[in-house]
Amino acid sequence: MANETESKAACADPRCPMHGSLKTKGTVLEGRVVSTKAKKTAVVEIPYVKKEGKYERFEKRRSKIHAHVPDCIQIAKGDWVRLEECRRLSRTKAFVVTKKAGGVK
Ligand SMILES: [Zn+2]
Repeated sequence: MANETESKAACADPRCPMHGSLKTKGTVLEGRVVSTKAKKTAVVEIPYVKKEGKYERFEKRRSKIHAHVPDCIQIAKGDWVRLEECRRLSRTKAFVVTKKAGGVK
C-alpha cells in the first residue's frame, strides 16, 4: 500500500493511454489544472510566450484546454500535469492527462 506507484494502479477506463485503448499522437503540453469540476475532465491552463513583432518583445499568454482524466490519475486544482493529444473525445476534449508533472514555472 505504501509503495504503490501510479503505473501499478490499474484502471478500467477505456480512454486511458496506459491501460485502455486510447492512442496519443501529436502535441505534448504541460500546464496547471485550474478546474476539476466536470466529471473525468480537467481544465488546464497552458502558459506560452508570444513574440510581439513590432517592438521585438515577448508577451506572456495563456490558453485553456479541456482534457480527459483517466481513472488511474488523481489530480487536484493547482497540480502541474502533462497532456498528450489524442482523438477527439468530446466536443471540447482532444487531449488526455498522462501524468503529474513537476512544474518549474
Ligand atoms: Zn489507467
